Parts: sequence; structure tokens; C-alpha cells
Amino acid sequence: MIVQPWVLLERTLAGSAGGVDLHSHSTHSDGHWSPTALVEDMSRQGITVCALTDHDTVSGLPEALAAAGEWEVAPVTGAELSLSLGKRLFHILCYDVDPAAPMWAGFARLRAERQAIYTRALLDELRRRGHSPNEQAAIGPDGEFVANAAAIALHAGGAAPTVEDAGRLLRSVVPVRPVELLYVDVERLCAILPPGFGVWVVGHPARQQAQVSDRLTEADLAGLRTALPIVGLEAHHPYHSPADVASYTAMAARHGLLVTCGSDAHGWRVNRPPISYSPSLCAGFLQFILERQRVAT
Ligand SMILES: [Zn+2]
Ligand SMILES: [Zn+2]
Repeated sequence: MIVQPWVLLERTLAGSAGGVDLHSHSTHSDGHWSPTALVEDMSRQGITVCALTDHDTVSGLPEALAAAGEWEVAPVTGAELSLSLGKRLFHILCYDVDPAAPMWAGFARLRAERQAIYTRALLDELRRRGHSPNEQAAIGPDGEFVANAAAIALHAGGAAPTVEDAGRLLRSVVPVRPVELLYVDVERLCAILPPGFGVWVVGHPARQQAQVSDRLTEADLAGLRTALPIVGLEAHHPYHSPADVASYTAMAARHGLLVTCGSDAHGWRVNRPPISYSPSLCAGFLQFILERQRVAT
């Protein structure tokens, strides 16, 4: 008999089903498994509530939803958005969304704008270093840069015999790419968000890594909350030390926010597997999602 996802969510919350993993990636971003293979893997590890949260896209969600039905896992839809607040960078998880919502087309346009800015910066850097990329060759019929634009422009400019060689040359000439330019400004996102859209959680708030994410401060949280209705912090994450977990659990409590847990699974090959967290670690969040789903049905 097929168990309804919200029933499974309810059972998980009550402690009579399995574990929870609210953060994972598939081949739709930088994960190493298809959404189907990921959900199957999670199910085999006893996870009964899972979320696929690919970077800046919801394109894997329809497949993940179908697989969740097959493997009797309650899916929470989601995505992990790369957002900037001034010069500060954050990965913000957005849950319980309709992948077909028009907001995602709007977000894709914001990302395309950032992609063009990033590509221009990369081409400028190549010129500064004495190369002559052919920019026109990397522009598609829609007037936008094509994927892998910088390598294509280098190749078309005669710097390398193939696009693959141009890619290698690019990596040696510009070893540190300006990937921070790809982050969408949180205010720009706020401007296209319909009221009540999504359930917003700051991903891995303790993670400090150049060009990826900044460790969340009280001031950052206040700034993010002026634009986004943040409801939680991902206090439980494999990169967090026990002190980080305690610190962000306390920050969540101070601000009346919920706590979530996610493995940030990318694949066994990269030694980043799913983690079956105890539902008690994120009971408030699961209850919040359950109530939203009950209202929606
Ligand atoms: Zn992240
Ligand atoms: Zn992630």
C-alpha cells in the first residue's frame, strides 16, 4: 500500500519511522547521483524524510518526487540558493516550493544576469593576461553567453586547438575564478518573491570559505531578515564542530528560529554521503512543514 507523504512525515516526527536528511545535491547541480539514485540511497539508509536541495535550481525535483513515491520517503521540496548581502556570501535553503512556480523563471533570469557579469569579468581577466578571447563566438542566438563561454571564446580566439585545451589553459591562466560574482543579491531576489513563497533556512551558518560562504553573524542574520522571511538555521551540518552546533542552536533560540539538519550529500565517491539524522533534532521544522502541507491539501 502506498503511504501518503504527509502520513510518513507525521510518523517520522512521532519517532515511529526513520531518520531525516534535509540537504542534498544531485547531478542537476554538483552532486554525483541522479535524483532517483539519491532518493533510493537515502531510503536504503532508513531515511524517511528527505530534501533534494540542488544549487540554484529546482530542475531535479520532479524526478525526486516520483522516486520518493516509489521508495516510500516523504519528500520536502527545496533548493540551495547562492545569495549575497553586500559583499557577504550565503547559501540559503528554500523549502516547500512548487518547482513549476513562475518565481523560478524569475530567479533563472537573475542568475543569467550574474552569469553574464561573471563571464565578462573572466574575459577581461584573460585580456589583462595577454590573451585575445573571441567574445562573439561565445554568444548564442538569444544574445546570451553560452555555457562554458570563456573556454569557447579562448578557443575561437586561436589560443588553443580545442575547447577542452582552452578549458585547461583557462584553469592555468585564471586559477581562482571570480565565482562570488554568480551570487544573486538578496534584495533582487526579494523583489520577485510572491508573498508566503518558500520556507527559508540559512544553510551551514558556521561555514567560512572564501568565495563560497561567510560565517553567519548576528548582523548578517538581521540583514538577511530584512529581505527574506528566514525561519531557521541549519545548525546540524557535517562541517560544523560541536561548538558550532551549540552556537547556532543558541542563536536560533535567541531569535525564535527553528533548527534543521542536513548532510549536504554530494555522493559516496566524494565521501559526502547522506546522514540519517534523528527527527528530534529538527522536530519544530518538521511540524512547521507538516502544518503547511495540511493547509495546502
Ligand atoms: Zn552550501
Ligand atoms: Zn549544499
